[in-house]
Amino acid sequence: MNGWKHWVIATSLALSSTVALAQSSMDNVEIKATEVGERVYMLTGQGGNIGVFVGADQVVMVDAQYAPLADKIAAAIAALAEQPLKTLINTHFHGDHVNGNAAFAAKGVENRIAHANVLARLDADTRFDKSGLPTITFAGGLGFKVGDETIQMTHYPAAHTDGDVVVWFPSANVIHAGDLFFVDRFPFIDLNSGGRVQGYIDAIEAVMADIDDETLIIPGHGGLSKKADWQRLVSMIKVTREEVRSMQSAGLTEDQAVAQGLDAKWADWSWGFINEERWIRTLYKDLN
Ligand SMILES: [Zn+2]
Repeated sequence: MNGWKHWVIATSLALSSTVALAQSSMDNVEIKATEVGERVYMLTGQGGNIGVFVGADQVVMVDAQYAPLADKIAAAIAALAEQPLKTLINTHFHGDHVNGNAAFAAKGVENRIAHANVLARLDADTRFDKSGLPTITFAGGLGFKVGDETIQMTHYPAAHTDGDVVVWFPSANVIHAGDLFFVDRFPFIDLNSGGRVQGYIDAIEAVMADIDDETLIIPGHGGLSKKADWQRLVSMIKVTREEVRSMQSAGLTEDQAVAQGLDAKWADWSWGFINEERWIRTLYKDLN
């Protein structure tokens, strides 16, 4: 998900600085830690869920939420482990996952790992604080050894964006799926940043083939989940895409498809950022 809330607030109050607004709107955000598996935790606050791995000599975090939350996130991590926080992995380039990068760099997070396309996009983004840029990039996949564990990162092309990475913690049988997983809500598929609906489905199915029914999945957005929960998302995407495809084949324009709407049974999947209209427009544009 992108930093939509931030921008809605920012554009409606043009006189104030976005940083000050982001700060004040996040004062009440609480960072909650959940133990997921052996040495792996999930942190929730505002923005994409954070994964934490406590290694023998350092802590690794996955995604960084927003800069104004960095002190609270660092405190929550310090409460879980004495080891220093040294490594940050970004699942993709969206602001609600990378906005805190520079703040964590300032806290001594030396290794910042992401797919090469994430570095390219952040480097080109004039609003992104360059001190938080990734320092280690890769193309297909990367293993990062921490003590006796090797954290695995795998890139899935043309999915939520063009730089999505799934992070695996093999000993704990836990993965962080980034925004390849929105739990029981319409997903954001960023067609303007290399995302594609079929690629999104392919990525999820490829990961699902490599995990088992007990694998715990930290989603980008939503609660801790398992494979069966992810399957619901894939099924919803396939069925709603067929609904939109039939409307398109019947000659409906994008606006007419929005007006007709999806089957009523999908109403619960609508949420603030990706409501039914936005989901139909995504599917319609992607099919063109
Ligand atoms: Zn995202």
